[in-house]
Amino acid sequence: MGKVKKKVKLIKIDVDKCNGCRACEVICSAFHANPKYSSNNPARSRIRLIREPLRDVYLPVYAGEYAKAECAGRDKYVIDGKEYEECDFCRASCPSRDIFKEPDSGLPLKCDMCEDDPPQEKPLCVQWCLNDALTYEEREEEVEEEVKLDDMEIGLESMVDKYGLQKVRDTVARMSKKE
Ligand code: SF4
Ligand code: SF4
Repeated sequence: MGKVKKKVKLIKIDVDKCNGCRACEVICSAFHANPKYSSNNPARSRIRLIREPLRDVYLPVYAGEYAKAECAGRDKYVIDGKEYEECDFCRASCPSRDIFKEPDSGLPLKCDMCEDDPPQEKPLCVQWCLNDALTYEEREEEVEEEVKLDDMEIGLESMVDKYGLQKVRDTVARMSKKE
């Protein structure tokens, strides 16, 4: 695959401006609910707050790639006198924690920059963050051409990783017969 020009969308996170209001989690989970806006469960959000009010820790983190194995990272970081776990900064939907997983099915969640139908001009979490902790930027870059996966493909990929292609095929075939 060759290089292509691509509009790269970025969300800049200013941790110092986040007050932990969780408006970003609410709007993200509502926008991605099925039917749209029918629920607003933060557990379904693709942005999650690492939130510890007693220590004044509010860290918004976006759901990134699915990881089938947990990593060995257990280091601690102290930034401006506040202690964070290494996992706090991680965007992966991985086996060692509950976040970034669809609560009913356990399938991985990933931020899609609100490009779901109908695509939003600006990410909704940015629009709903009244404290400007989240700001949106765009720039053009030359990148390797990539195959874009939708939510269903990401979910299926994780099922195939976990159970093997044959088992997923057999299950789908069995379910189709029941319909
Ligand atoms: S950009 Fe959209 S999909 Fe991503 S976390 Fe924000 S609201 Fe959710
Ligand atoms: S909406 Fe903004 S201030 Fe509120 S929790 Fe999310 S990032 Fe923090």
